[in-house]
Amino acid sequence: MDKLVSLIISGLPNGVRLSLVLFLIIINYGAEFLVKRAVLKVYHKTNSPEEAVNKLRIYNQYFLVVLQIITIVAMEFLVVKYSTRYGKAGRIVFMTVASFVFLMVINIGQLLIINKTYQRIRGTTQSLFNQVRDLALTFLLFLGPAGLIGTMMLFADEIKVESDVVAGMLTAAIPIGMMFLFNLILPFFYPKILKASALEDAGLRERLNQLFAKAGIKPAQFYQWPTKEKKVANALVVGLVKPKVFIGDYYLENAEPGEIEATIAHEIGHLKHKHLFKRLLYLVGGIAEVVLVGSLLDWYEKATGKEINIYLGLAILLGPFLLYISLGLLQYYRSQEKKADEFALEIGIKPEVMINALLKLGRLNHMVTKLKKLDERFQTHPSMARRIEQIEKISGYKYEFKQ
Ligand SMILES: [Zn+2]
Repeated sequence: MDKLVSLIISGLPNGVRLSLVLFLIIINYGAEFLVKRAVLKVYHKTNSPEEAVNKLRIYNQYFLVVLQIITIVAMEFLVVKYSTRYGKAGRIVFMTVASFVFLMVINIGQLLIINKTYQRIRGTTQSLFNQVRDLALTFLLFLGPAGLIGTMMLFADEIKVESDVVAGMLTAAIPIGMMFLFNLILPFFYPKILKASALEDAGLRERLNQLFAKAGIKPAQFYQWPTKEKKVANALVVGLVKPKVFIGDYYLENAEPGEIEATIAHEIGHLKHKHLFKRLLYLVGGIAEVVLVGSLLDWYEKATGKEINIYLGLAILLGPFLLYISLGLLQYYRSQEKKADEFALEIGIKPEVMINALLKLGRLNHMVTKLKKLDERFQTHPSMARRIEQIEKISGYKYEFKQ
C-alpha cells in the first residue's frame, strides 16, 4: 500500500502521469453522460420538470460530487511531485491552483454535456459564459480561503513553542480565526459577486423595513440580483454585523409581496437567532474537538510508551469529526431552518401565507415537495412537506391543497 502510494507520487514517468490525469477527467465526463441519459429517461417518462430536476440533484449530490472528490485526491497524488521545485508556500499555491484548474476543466466539460438537457427541462436561458463565471466564483470562494489557511498553518508550524498545548491551540486558532475573518469580509463583496443592485420596489422596501422593526432588528440593506435567466427564486441574508438582504429578481417578478414578506421573515428569523454566528461556533466546536482528541492521543502514547497504529489513530481522530461536520452540521442547519420558520409565524406571518410562499418557491425552482427520509438527512433544508407539516403543527392551521 505504502509502496503503491510512493510509486504514484514519485515513481511514474511524466507521460503516464499526465495520461492518468487525463483519464480521471474523462471518467468524470463519462459519468455526466450517464447522468444525462438517466435524467432524460425520467423526464420522458414523467414529463415532470420537478421529477427530472430531483433526479439530477440526487445524481449530482451522491455520484458526481463524490466522484469529483475521489478524482481530485487522485490527481493531487499524481501532480504533487511537480510542486517540490517550489518553496513551502509555493507548494500550497501550486496545489491549490492545480485543484482549481482540474475542477474547472471537469465542471466546464460536464456543463457542456448537461446544459442543453437542463435548459430544455427548466426553460432556463443563462449563457454558458455566465454559468462558467458562476462555477469559477464558487470554486474560488472555497479554494481561495482553503489555500490561504493551508499556507498560514505551514508558517505557524515554524513558530517554535515549548508547550504542546500552546502549539495545539495555535493550530486550531488559525482556521477558526480565518473563518470568522472570511465571514466578516465576504459580505462586503456579495453585491459585486451577485451583480446586485439596490431593491427598486419602494413599497416592498417599506414592508420589509416594518418587518425588521417588528422583529426588533436594526434595518438591513436590501438588494435584488439577476436570476431570471437561471430561474432561481431565492432570498438570502448575509453579514454577521451589518445584515444585507438579497432577493433574486426572478422571485420578485413571480411572487406576491405577501409571499416575499414571509420568505424574508424566515430570513429575519435566522438573524434574530444569530444562526450564522452559531454555525461558526458549531464548526469551532468541531475543530476544538479534533485538537483535544489529538493531544489526548499524544498524551496516551507518551504516558504508556505504546505507539498507536497510525490508521487507528486517524480513525479515532477524524471519524467522529467527519460525522460531526457532515451529517451533524446538516442536522444543525435543518434545526435552524425550523426555528426560522417558527420565528416568521411569531412576528405575525399568517400560516397560510407562509405555506403558499414555500410552495411558490418550490414551484419556481422546480423542486419536489417530498424527499426520501435518508435523502433528507443529507440536505441543508427540510423538505417542503416537512416544513409545511411543522407550520401546521405550530399554528394549528390546516392547509387546503388546491388540486
Ligand atoms: Zn433558512
